[in-house]
Amino acid sequence: MFEKILIANRGEIALRVLRACRELGIRTVAVHSVADTEAKYVKLADESVCIGPAPSAKSYLNVPSIIAAAEVTDSEAIHPGYGFLSENADFAERVEQSGFVFIGPRAETIRLMGDKVSAKDAMKTAGVPCVPGSDGALPDDPKEIMRIANAIGYPVIVKAAGGGGGRGMRVVHTAAALLNAVTTTRAEAEAAFGNPVLYMEKYLENPRHIEIQVLADEHGNAVHLGERDCSMQRRHQKVIEEAPAPGIDRKVIAKIGERCAEACRKIGYRGAGTFEFLFEGGEFYFIEMNTRVQVEHPVTELITGVDIVQAQVRIAAGEKLWLKQKDIAFRGHAIECRINAEDPFRFTPSPGRITNWHVPGGPGIRVDSHAYNGYTVPQYYDSMIGKLIAAGDSREQAVRRMRIALSEMVIEGIKSNIRLHQELMQDAGFVSGGASIHYLEKKLESQPGDGRD
Ligand code: ADP
Repeated sequence: MFEKILIANRGEIALRVLRACRELGIRTVAVHSVADTEAKYVKLADESVCIGPAPSAKSYLNVPSIIAAAEVTDSEAIHPGYGFLSENADFAERVEQSGFVFIGPRAETIRLMGDKVSAKDAMKTAGVPCVPGSDGALPDDPKEIMRIANAIGYPVIVKAAGGGGGRGMRVVHTAAALLNAVTTTRAEAEAAFGNPVLYMEKYLENPRHIEIQVLADEHGNAVHLGERDCSMQRRHQKVIEEAPAPGIDRKVIAKIGERCAEACRKIGYRGAGTFEFLFEGGEFYFIEMNTRVQVEHPVTELITGVDIVQAQVRIAAGEKLWLKQKDIAFRGHAIECRINAEDPFRFTPSPGRITNWHVPGGPGIRVDSHAYNGYTVPQYYDSMIGKLIAAGDSREQAVRRMRIALSEMVIEGIKSNIRLHQELMQDAGFVSGGASIHYLEKKLESQPGDGRD
């Protein structure tokens, strides 16, 4: 096992990784920007190194600084968390070339999955069901593009191979609008991702977002930890996640889960990963794979008892997977609310000093957050300041516990989305379970934020 790990991230996930390392008896190095000098995990870490000024381009994305920090602290491995450099194949490569272990898949796997065209190709070959669409990248020839769209059937969605974060895609409803849409999306993709390659898929009208968590070691073993339902989204950003997904037959999950585990064995996947699917009409359609730990991993941890971050570390250290599929049991239900520093109905960011912070507790409640009384939420980064997770024997119990937890939670000095979560926990569409990815946006459109403060 490693003796010292450098955590190349910030916020709640830096704290989460730190706690996992401490439990494993591993010393930690926190790297931080000038804006995060006072952060809780920086103080809790065994060592800390300032890697640059507040803007992430100069600190959390500053590869030479991070590698230098690993060198001066004699770290053995680097945990990238999520976001920032976590899915950057060049970074993974640099880390390994500099003599450190990258806690994640091999650089070539990250590269394969980072390009959505090659990812889909690899998944098709590995027997994972994909959204029907173009066979690889779209050609330049307009006639060919029209032919492909006709064959798929409208509506279609034009997507950037290098896209991410819900950007670089466009829904097209008619043949008349197709070629313009392709031209615009191509220009956007080139500007945003430096990659003009596009592909096309059938646009599914009312799917749910269901994802499968996997763990794989470097010795060819892989298991799945079941699914998460992340359909409660706004602008393709997840707001609430839960496990298991309400109303889906366990046999169906076991089958797609095994397909994903098998795909990991076939592509030589290493570490924790997530296969994201759209689920419609009882069928799964692969959209992308995330080659890192996800924000919503705690709901899976709470129903399986598997510590996913510790698993990442143990796998990176070369351990053989200690779990067999039959050892993994699913118990109860867990729900996660992402707590953001933002206006609950207008969604404008609300950085600043937290003057009063009180977190709930009691049976089944977990709070993953780096915030505290007097903490200043910097303006430079993502607005998520923590996650409130409730587990229970049943979904009903988890919802009830979440309602109580939300009513106990106090965040003053800045705005937070607690009130949105409170509304959603009472919302008939959420409470009955199984809503589609469009549900939350439609609900928000029908009750605009103005006038509610
Ligand atoms: P990103 O990497 O930017 O998150 P994804 O491919 O994961 O891109 O897609 C993000 C979201 O876009 C999905 O969760 C879904 O809401 C929507 N989406 C993507 N592809 C389709 C599709 N074929 N049909 C319907 N919605 C889609």
